[in-house]
Amino acid sequence: MITINEHYLKLQASYLFSDIARRVAAFQEAHPDRQVIRLGIGDVTRALPGACIDALHRAVDEMAVDATFRGYGPEQGYAFLREAIARHDFQARGAEVDPDEIFISDGAKCDTGNIQELFATDCRIAIPDPVYPVYLDTNVMAGRTGEFADGRYQGIVYLDSTRDNSYVPDLPKEKVDLIYLCFPNNPTGSTITREQLQAWVDYAREHRALILFDAAYESFIRDDSLPHSIFEMKGAREVAIEFRSFSKSAGFTGTRCAYTVVPRECTAYTRQGGKQQVHSLWNRRHCTKFNGVSYPVQRAAEAVYSAEGQVQTRELTDYYMGNAALIAQAVQELGFHFVGGRNAPYIWISSERDSWQFFDQLLNEAGVVCTPGAGFGRCGQGYIRLSAFNSRENVVQAMERIRRALT
Ligand SMILES: *Cc1c(COP(=O)(O)O)cnc(C)c1O
Repeated sequence: MITINEHYLKLQASYLFSDIARRVAAFQEAHPDRQVIRLGIGDVTRALPGACIDALHRAVDEMAVDATFRGYGPEQGYAFLREAIARHDFQARGAEVDPDEIFISDGAKCDTGNIQELFATDCRIAIPDPVYPVYLDTNVMAGRTGEFADGRYQGIVYLDSTRDNSYVPDLPKEKVDLIYLCFPNNPTGSTITREQLQAWVDYAREHRALILFDAAYESFIRDDSLPHSIFEMKGAREVAIEFRSFSKSAGFTGTRCAYTVVPRECTAYTRQGGKQQVHSLWNRRHCTKFNGVSYPVQRAAEAVYSAEGQVQTRELTDYYMGNAALIAQAVQELGFHFVGGRNAPYIWISSERDSWQFFDQLLNEAGVVCTPGAGFGRCGQGYIRLSAFNSRENVVQAMERIRRALT
């Protein structure tokens, strides 16, 4: 008899996006003439930068000729891309990261989901609330939690991100082994200061814990005092892994390229307390289970670091940040408490009522779709998330409609 991994049965079906779709469809049916504006999306909408498109075309042409054709590439990624990343994203900011510590992949979602398999099933996991659901669900699948009760899985240490802590969780009171952090944050749009991030690194060093730092929104940081990488912190190389992606920074959500940084000093332990290099384990995992990102896509990612690519990607994120500023300004004028929108493409708004009630009001009275915060965890109840990933025109119109509906 073939039996299943019963941990999968603990997973909560995510009704969030299907629920949203159902309510929007019902609204459209009742009001066929009203045009709905979607500010719920977590996907980019603008075309790839020209430098990336040119690089893609050139690489495709190379694949058409025997002399320049490429077959299987190195699983960890081509040196041209790993070297460009190390130089531009880390060494230029004073963070010590070598090209061979960078693993190119097809997504930060996959990497943040897969990394947990390197660690013991009984290690204590700390996960933020509200949260990007991948961190939680992949640990449920791996059997690191008990059942789901009262909106939470047993066995997980939840890191509450609330108004009281300005949406940056406090250090856990108990000892944890594996810590997920994401800054700038999805869904809240909050950021972490150097001092706060250093405190997490110090905690991890003291407790021989490991931090999984998701920096997928690093390119939206505009405040120079904020850290872009955890490796800007003292002592982080022993206790942290960082995840980055070209998805939001360069519009690669449909093109697929990301990377994970595992420093050579990064350490986990055997049960007897023996030191184990994490880099070699992730390298083994990556080579066994992953074939590498396609050559043309890696050339497109490399083009992000060309002079032209740097200007074009900055223009791209500036455009979304212009949207974010308009949303933040409107929300502020309406008198809501909110966070985000300054160094992140999300605005997290306290609606002071049920998330879904506010969702329905915005949909019915303004024809604007948001994401109810309750879908991201218990601490998201009462909040909604607006995203800046739409056209300027739509954002301006959506804010105008929300103003009219709520004043
Ligand atoms: C969008 C996003 C990513 C990037 O995922 P990809 O798989 O690289 O597209 C990673 N983490 C968070 C929190 C995100 O919102």
